[in-house]
Amino acid sequence: MSFQVLGLDAKILRAVSEAGYTEPTPIQSAAIPPIVAGHDLIGIAQTGTGKTAAFTLPILTRLAALPPNPRRCTKVLVIAPTRELVVQIDENIKAYAKHLPLTVATVFGGVGEQPQIRALRSGTDVVVACPGRLLDLMGQRAADFSQLKFLVLDEADRMLDMGFLPSIRKIVQALPKVRQTLMFSATLSKEIEQLTHEFQRAPKIVQIGRRANPAETVTQFVYEVPKHLKPALLQHLLQDPKMEMVLVFSRMKHAADRVARQLEQKGIRCATLHSNRSQNQRLKALKDFKSGAVRVLVATDIAARGIDVDGISHVVNYDFPMHVEDYIHRIGRTGRANQIGDAISFVTNEDHGELRALERFIGRGIVRKKAEGFNYAAAVPPYNPAEEGRHFSQPRQQGRPQRSGQSSRPGQPRPQSHGGDSRQEHSGRRRWGR
Ligand code: AMP
Repeated sequence: MSFQVLGLDAKILRAVSEAGYTEPTPIQSAAIPPIVAGHDLIGIAQTGTGKTAAFTLPILTRLAALPPNPRRCTKVLVIAPTRELVVQIDENIKAYAKHLPLTVATVFGGVGEQPQIRALRSGTDVVVACPGRLLDLMGQRAADFSQLKFLVLDEADRMLDMGFLPSIRKIVQALPKVRQTLMFSATLSKEIEQLTHEFQRAPKIVQIGRRANPAETVTQFVYEVPKHLKPALLQHLLQDPKMEMVLVFSRMKHAADRVARQLEQKGIRCATLHSNRSQNQRLKALKDFKSGAVRVLVATDIAARGIDVDGISHVVNYDFPMHVEDYIHRIGRTGRANQIGDAISFVTNEDHGELRALERFIGRGIVRKKAEGFNYAAAVPPYNPAEEGRHFSQPRQQGRPQRSGQSSRPGQPRPQSHGGDSRQEHSGRRRWGR
């Protein structure tokens, strides 16, 4: 199928072709015509399927057909869970609208309010926002949504998981009732169905792929590895030049920093992405990763939500994820829009239960691999007091000093090692059942 048959405006078709897209992805073929026809829509699609263009292209087409908007009253509001996703949607909208006279403003926390307030007050056709900051600015009467025509809730399931429902309800209550509302979610849960009843009118449902199954284009492997050998295994795997653009996931912020430090020590250029880093540091990390200035990006789940980087060759689950949604989301960062990608998971003895639960969930086994040429019998690294509290689950070495009051049970983190910035970034979701 070609983009020409979907009913899109000519200027948008031009931008799409300049973006190098030759044919629509399945979610685009299915969602664009009903949105162009003015229907509400609920799109169930995994990340990486091209869903941003699936809602942006038809909305822009409908905007282009409206009378001119000299006062720049806001016509479109897109709400998304994270700053990174907001920035990406903004970039996408600007690329697809490059031949239209439209302005786009972004709203998210962690940076000063004033520029955002000024942008909203001076009038902007499209606003892309995180719910929390948007609600704050609406409270300050910075936004005027009285002429709003289109509302998009992107990654609605994740916004529910992150506890944004009360904010979203307040925002939606303040919007005009007559509008076109689009909602995108990786899964169709009861909660999402409830939201469609609240916010939408007779929505069309478009569901791509099986429910919450990993992207078909991603090849998945498991490497069983003792915990203390994870750094060495990662360094060993990275000797393969095919691992050219690698996203590594860790559960904890401090672990992300440690993994990056260890790789840098081996001469592998890395950046980190987690919520202890400032907004500017996070944007720079993403920019360096996208441009190839760094080969490896080490990230935690929440910070990585919505990462949209083309060409990620490998995702490495350095720490096995705690939730099936995180696994699906993580591996969806590679193999985007039908490119090929590999997802590698390090699995320790402690992770076998989670691995089995995941395999049950996705309905198939994941191939176990052994790293060729890797010395699995390698000795535990020499004890380094500076690293105290970091190798908590490695087998105890003979003669290794044991600090009083610290547990030596393998696999059991010592409570002292988990404070402050070492806490896991909590997503508010249940762990997967066994
Ligand atoms: P998304 O699921 O919206 O995050 O999109 C995933 C990636 O696919 C983005 O990097 C887009 O630039 C890219 N993309 C979207 N639509 C197409 C298309 N029709 N052909 C090729 N790439 C696309």
